[in-house]
Amino acid sequence: MQKRTKILATVGPSSDTVETLSAMIRAGVNVFRLNFSHGSHEYHAGVLENIRTAMRETGLIVGVLQDISGPKIRVGRLREDFLLESDDRIDFYYDRIEGEKVGPKHYRLSINQPDILKMLKIGDAIYLYDGNIRAKILECTPQYVSATVENHGKLSSNKGVNFPNTALGIDVLTEKDKADMAWGVRHGVDFMAISFVQNARDMIQAREVVRECGGEVQLFAKIEKFDAVENIDEILRHSDGLMVARGDLGIEVPYHRVPTIQKMLIRKANEHSKPVITATQMLLSMTEKESATRAEISDVANAVLDGTDAVMLSEESAVGKNPVLAVETMVNTIRSIEEIYPYGKFDFGYDDAMDVVNESAVRLGDSLNAEGIISMTTSGQSAKKLSRYRPKMTIYAATHEERVARLLTMVWGVVPAYLTKKGRLEEMLSDVIHSGLKRNIIDKNNTYIFTAGYPIGTPGTTNVIRILRENELTFFGETKPLPAKSKKNEETNVPTLF
Ligand code: PGA
Ligand code: MN
Repeated sequence: MQKRTKILATVGPSSDTVETLSAMIRAGVNVFRLNFSHGSHEYHAGVLENIRTAMRETGLIVGVLQDISGPKIRVGRLREDFLLESDDRIDFYYDRIEGEKVGPKHYRLSINQPDILKMLKIGDAIYLYDGNIRAKILECTPQYVSATVENHGKLSSNKGVNFPNTALGIDVLTEKDKADMAWGVRHGVDFMAISFVQNARDMIQAREVVRECGGEVQLFAKIEKFDAVENIDEILRHSDGLMVARGDLGIEVPYHRVPTIQKMLIRKANEHSKPVITATQMLLSMTEKESATRAEISDVANAVLDGTDAVMLSEESAVGKNPVLAVETMVNTIRSIEEIYPYGKFDFGYDDAMDVVNESAVRLGDSLNAEGIISMTTSGQSAKKLSRYRPKMTIYAATHEERVARLLTMVWGVVPAYLTKKGRLEEMLSDVIHSGLKRNIIDKNNTYIFTAGYPIGTPGTTNVIRILRENELTFFGETKPLPAKSKKNEETNVPTLF
């Protein structure tokens, strides 16, 4: 059985050639991530071209996610590294200054977004260097905010700063982000991930930027701030999907809260049929080593059981020693745990009438011991709704556009297997059955469930559930399809593997 959980792999210097990208796709990658915290537009354009070549060479379809770097807060330049001890004092200046030691146990510096200092209060925490150094605010003056260091550590220039209990309300998109998003729309990326989202307004703003660029991109909210966790319901309503961005999240909230939040986020995303990615440190030791730790393997397996749509590789595939091996390790882990997967989740309420219809289709297929569900989906929404119930059956999506097929690369259990022209229902059905029989993804001896919204054109109106058994498969298999349509299927070569 093919794996159901999808794999997202970050592309970087270790994996940016056509050869490696092709090997990673063959090994089981479904979506590639371009990380815009690093690399120029020229670099990413080259990577994108290589991904597209690899897609053609393998005949397999993958999606592309552009990760927008967002307003990462950093300390400015320091004249020399600060060797901080507990009870040392650091003054954070509004004016841009070079960081320096001003006396015994006394330092000063500035940060790249000094306006944030206005929002701080006595007693608030400031974390430096990805949470390695913790400080508490003692005094706020018009020139600076002063904090006392609570542990020891070395601070160098440009290290990250977090404010784990202050809602900053800053703009989620920098000028660089907006330029990067315009690039993404021009280059036809499928998904964008927005970093450091705080609330729904941030996602609305991001969507506005995409709209102004004239694009159609799925927007994922990276949940990596404490206030994003608090505002999750409104954020989810305005997002096409979520990323559990555990790297920064584990700095913003106490480390022991991360697994609980992961489960909560996945559950909410599943409930509303929105794809969710579990990210960061999944197989981190494979950046350097040939094998992952037992704990890392368990982490991947448990994210699958939590209900994640996709698991993500970061450094492991971007700068690691063996990206293909990291993908293979994920695939093996996913396959094993999916043997005991709790297929058939029906404990959600209904978001809308479509959920009722798609739940019925899954239940019907289960009862008939069907092999697969073929979902004719114009926008991709009904395939996502079927996936919500985590059926044991494979969901084969038939779409009319390759763009929609690529969106479904992120969705648990969905194989974007068919491209069909829009037509009369019987014609489209005949097209799909012909192509499926020819490519051995439909077996005449098995049962399939077919779902569609008809007449086509109104997304989200599944109103046909049809049972395909031997007699119907034979009947349609023998009906001559219109030659032009079957030709289109061959040309586009949409794969059966995922
Ligand atoms: P990043 O996001 O890799 O862009 O920081 C993921 C995370 O924070 O976990
Ligand atoms: Mn992050």
